[in-house]
Amino acid sequence: MTKMLNIAIVGAGIGGLAAAALLARDGHHVTLLDQFEAPAPVGSGLVIQPVGQAVLAACGAGSAARALGVPITRMLGHEAKTGARVLDVSYGTPKRPHTGLGIHRAALFQTLLDAALRQGVAPITGARVVGAPANGAGRTVVLADGRRLGPFDLVVDASGAGSVLSPLKGRTLSYGALWGTVPWPAGTDLPPDQLTQRYRMAFRMMGVLPIGTLPGDATPRAAIFWSLPAAGEAAFRTRPLAVWKAEAISLWPAFGPFLQTIQTQQDLTMARYSHGTLARPFAPGIAFVGDAAHRASPQLGQGANMALLDVWALTLALRAAPLPQALQTYAAARRRHVAIYQALSAAFTPQFQSDSLVLPVLRDRVLMPLSRIPPAPRVLTRLVCGDLVAPMRGVANTAPTAGGWDVPARKKVDG
Ligand SMILES: Cc1cc2nc3c(=O)[nH]c(=O)nc-3n(C[C@H](O)[C@H](O)[C@H](O)COP(=O)(O)OP(=O)(O)OC[C@H]3O[C@@H](n4cnc5c(N)ncnc54)[C@H](O)[C@@H]3O)c2cc1C
Repeated sequence: MTKMLNIAIVGAGIGGLAAAALLARDGHHVTLLDQFEAPAPVGSGLVIQPVGQAVLAACGAGSAARALGVPITRMLGHEAKTGARVLDVSYGTPKRPHTGLGIHRAALFQTLLDAALRQGVAPITGARVVGAPANGAGRTVVLADGRRLGPFDLVVDASGAGSVLSPLKGRTLSYGALWGTVPWPAGTDLPPDQLTQRYRMAFRMMGVLPIGTLPGDATPRAAIFWSLPAAGEAAFRTRPLAVWKAEAISLWPAFGPFLQTIQTQQDLTMARYSHGTLARPFAPGIAFVGDAAHRASPQLGQGANMALLDVWALTLALRAAPLPQALQTYAAARRRHVAIYQALSAAFTPQFQSDSLVLPVLRDRVLMPLSRIPPAPRVLTRLVCGDLVAPMRGVANTAPTAGGWDVPARKKVDG
């Protein structure tokens, strides 16, 4: 058994809450800090892939998350003008009956917060961290209001894409998306277990993702999104909403019922994306996890999963070795998976979100036909499930397999 540590976690988002639950359960003394005044998630919905579901289960949040979210069995997308099928990936195969988990961010947040609270960790709110300087063998955490906390043996930077602690400078992507949450409408024939998308070349992408219910509110909901260049947000905000709705419905009539409750432009929130990866996600006394360590567009739907896998790998590394070595083990465990998913995200994103006239044609005429030839469908299934390559190496993974992550069975992971 390694020494129990005094740990500060910066950021009570997906990675930070999961880290708090896992590290406190292992006996570490955990201080969880967030800049928000009251716990509140931002954003709409997302898909937790089977690998992420396994980590939720390890956190003790798996069944609560499944009770609120909905199983996603397939991702299906068509080109709006030609009607061509552009994307068709099923989660399950006879050998791996997996599903994604569509879930509202608030529901995921609540299940992870409950898991952290059960381990005796409540976030300290209104705590905007501005620095974490080295202090002897550990680190002090400095807040914007001048308070200094610590020293801590370890700071876990889980403060997301806007981290002020991480040296990562991401490349801003030209396209982002407007996101909204709406009740699942009665008059739709879209499958309630499928992420459905429509594209026009690569300059337009819209979609509907079933995300289940909110805690204490049984209304089934959907996340809707509309891709646009980040620079196009101002024009969207000043244009009459009816003009936008008419354009969206002309491209995809089935989108119409999902727009009924969108009353003003403010009902949609702009999300901007960036891309980048830290070569070394740690420094003495500090570990970077989640978007603070690597960020990408949500095209492959992996960001939350990556944050969950990072904190799980860090937890396992801290069980196995003393601190300095554990940080190296953590980085080595995640290096290959992060590198491959980041590279694939960089390759896929412009095919769906860019001004390119060539890439979408290549996508529709070459890549889509190729993707139907075995073993491509199986490879794509593993890609979205999050275990195209082993999610972590060199640490003994003990995640419950109930969430659908069957990686523990493979020797190279447990290596
Ligand atoms: C629109 C959109 C759709 C997405 N869809 C998916 C999907 O389908 N599947 C998927 O896996 N991923 C998806 N992602 C990515 C996913 O949301 C992120 O990768 C994930 O939230 C990263 O988790 P994190 O813990 O690193 O950071 P976050 O969840 O962003 O949490 C960071 C926390 O740190 C706090 N914080 C920030 N700065 C400070 C500071 N200085 N001091 C104190 N606290 C601070 C913030 O308040 C926040 O609570 C999507 C992202 C977006 C934007």
